Amino acid sequence: MPPRTRSAWLRTLGQLLLVLGGAVVVGLAVRQAWAVVACVALAVVAWHYWRLRRLLLQLTARKRLAPPLGDGVWNELDRLLYRGQAEKRGRKRRLIQMLSAYRAAAAALPDAIVIVDRNSQRVQWFNEASTSLLGLRYPHDIGAPLSERLQPLPLAHWLSAGRHAEPMETRSPVNASMTLSLRLIPYSESLWMLVARDVTRLLQLEQMRRDFVANVSHELRTPLTVVHGYLDMLDPEDNPEWAPMLAEMQRQSQRMTQLVEDLLMLSRLESQDSLPSEEAVSMPPMLAALRREAVALSQGRHEISVEDSAGIDLWGSHRELHSAFSNLVSNAVRYTPAGGKVHIRFRHDARGASLDVVDSGYGIPAAHLPRITERFYRVSNSRSRESGGTGLGLSIVKHVLNLHQARLDITSEVGRGSTFSCRFGAERLREREHYGQTA
Ligand code: ADP
Repeated sequence: MPPRTRSAWLRTLGQLLLVLGGAVVVGLAVRQAWAVVACVALAVVAWHYWRLRRLLLQLTARKRLAPPLGDGVWNELDRLLYRGQAEKRGRKRRLIQMLSAYRAAAAALPDAIVIVDRNSQRVQWFNEASTSLLGLRYPHDIGAPLSERLQPLPLAHWLSAGRHAEPMETRSPVNASMTLSLRLIPYSESLWMLVARDVTRLLQLEQMRRDFVANVSHELRTPLTVVHGYLDMLDPEDNPEWAPMLAEMQRQSQRMTQLVEDLLMLSRLESQDSLPSEEAVSMPPMLAALRREAVALSQGRHEISVEDSAGIDLWGSHRELHSAFSNLVSNAVRYTPAGGKVHIRFRHDARGASLDVVDSGYGIPAAHLPRITERFYRVSNSRSRESGGTGLGLSIVKHVLNLHQARLDITSEVGRGSTFSCRFGAERLREREHYGQTA
């Protein structure tokens, strides 16, 4: 017990003894000791009950208590209650300050933030940006079902994916020229946070970048064709001392032409969300063409083999798929030293089909694998340049496969070789038609 409380307690005990002692003395003087002591004891008990009642009234009134004056155990109790109430008020004030600071921060955010109840999917709270970006109105939309309130947006299906919902880009229901990026963040057992960000400017910049690359590549095409054409017309035998320079110029102009073609192809792939037209892609002629290309590129330096055990065809764009597969085959030949093996195989299992290009070449260190499909990313600049690479091959492969909802899996071991697998889902498979010629 703290000293102050302890002394109040002792003082009250002392007062009780004094009062009872006084009652005994007065009782003895009037020869009615028991009666006087009983009356005084009753008065003491009554006084305590009165204080108890006062205390109960104070507690139930929920009023702000006044600081007590005087001492004694009841005043000490009042003092402790007064202190507890003051501390609670202080804590509450601090909490309210913190809460309003958080609310002010959330309100000041340029992104729309909507708190949604996970079970009912109703709006619990939203910040000011939700009005300008999503068209939510306060207080009318508090408690409204989110997908119903944001009707034009395809939210119902997206919300049902819950924590697995992928970020979604969509038009704002308020302004059709504004594009929003929506993310769903489950942050507690019962609440989700929907964050909507205006990405219009970002998309415009991205589009400008794409247009710039596409336009520059397009503009470079004609002058390059001219340079290439004239270079081809020059005969090294006319000026034998120029022969090495001429050969180098031809090699470099060839590289630049390939780079421009690859950039144009990438721009075209990036600008489309889906394939413009789809067809059955017959695999035996495709595999035969890949083998021919590998043989031509290898010029007898590698052992090339093709295996076709799938017995089915693919569904998609012949031109894009051929370009992707041929990039993989060309890489396998270029990054495999002479004497190595390149194996192209097309297999089919319960989950789909896979076209694998397996080589016994240099391999890729594991640290490079996560970034290998980025444009111009190279494991070794010198080796890639020597081999005539543009640094865009695997980006093209990735984009083509994305358009076919397929994925690229890479396994590689330095010094032992690599396997690049294009995995297609069952929806991309078609019964194989009968061809006279196989790979
Ligand atoms: P590049 O035109 O330089 O070959 P790619 O995008 O096709 O560009 O490939 C990117 C990089 O990945 C290459 O520079 C090379 O370092 C590495 N790479 C690609 N395929 C293979 C392979 N089969 N074996 C070893 N390394 C490879």
